[in-house]
Amino acid sequence: MRRSIGYRCAMSSGRFCYLCGAVTEELFHGLCSPCFLGEKELASIPPRISVSLCRGCFRYYSSGSWVDGGESLTGFVETVGRKEALSHVSKELKDPSVDVEIKDIKEKGKGLSVELELHVSGTTSGLEYRQTLNTVLQIKNVTCPDCSRRSGGYYEAIVQLRSEQLDDTVTKFHEQIGRLYARDKQAFIVGETLVKGGVDFKLGSAKAAKTVATYFKSHYKAVIKETASLVGRKEGNDIYRITVLIRI
Ligand SMILES: [Zn+2]
Ligand SMILES: [Zn+2]
Repeated sequence: MRRSIGYRCAMSSGRFCYLCGAVTEELFHGLCSPCFLGEKELASIPPRISVSLCRGCFRYYSSGSWVDGGESLTGFVETVGRKEALSHVSKELKDPSVDVEIKDIKEKGKGLSVELELHVSGTTSGLEYRQTLNTVLQIKNVTCPDCSRRSGGYYEAIVQLRSEQLDDTVTKFHEQIGRLYARDKQAFIVGETLVKGGVDFKLGSAKAAKTVATYFKSHYKAVIKETASLVGRKEGNDIYRITVLIRI
C-alpha cells in the first residue's frame, strides 16, 4: 500500500504518499509535500571558500579579474556568500534568493575566517522551498597588481597642468581622476609637483591621462599637447611614457 503511487483511498478523497503513507489531496511525484521537499537538496555549497581581497582598493579576485568588493567588509562577505550559493542551486529551484548570516569572524594568518549560515529559499513544483547551508569564507589579504604598482611609484604618464586659476583647475583634475579611479584602479596619482605656472602629475595610467586631457579640452577649451618618450623595453616591446600638456 505504501508504494502504490497515486493510489486513491476508497475511504477518503485523498491519496497516499508512498514514502510516509500520509493521506493527502495532492501528490508530487507520488509523495506528500513534506516528503517531496525533504527528498530534495536543491542547494549546496563547498565547506570552505577562499577569496583573495586587496586591502588597498577593496577588490577581490574572481574568475580572472578584480571585482569591486563594495563599501564594507560585511557587505563584501554577504555578496560573496550569496554569489557562491546562487552559483550552486539546482535549476529546479525557481526564483532562488539567499539570506546571508555572519555567525563568526576570526583573524586567521594574513586574513580572516568568516563562518556563514546561508538561508536559501525559492519554489519548486509550486511549493515553497527552504534550505540552510553552512560554509567558512577564508579571506586572504593580498595586494592587487594595480595597488602594488601604485605603492611602487609606477607611472605611465606625466600630466603638465597649466592654468591661470590653478586651485580650481587642480580641484577639477582630482575630481576627474577620482571618477576614473572608480572604474580603473590604475588611474592613480603617484606624484604631484608644483612648478612655475602649474602642477606636474605622475599618473599610473596613460589612458587616464588622455581621458582627463579630453575633458579639459571639451569643458575648458584647453590646449593639449602630447609627446611620448621611449623609457625602455620589456619582453621585446618598446615601453613609452607619455607627457600630456594641458594648458587652460
Ligand atoms: Zn509523505
Ligand atoms: Zn588593489
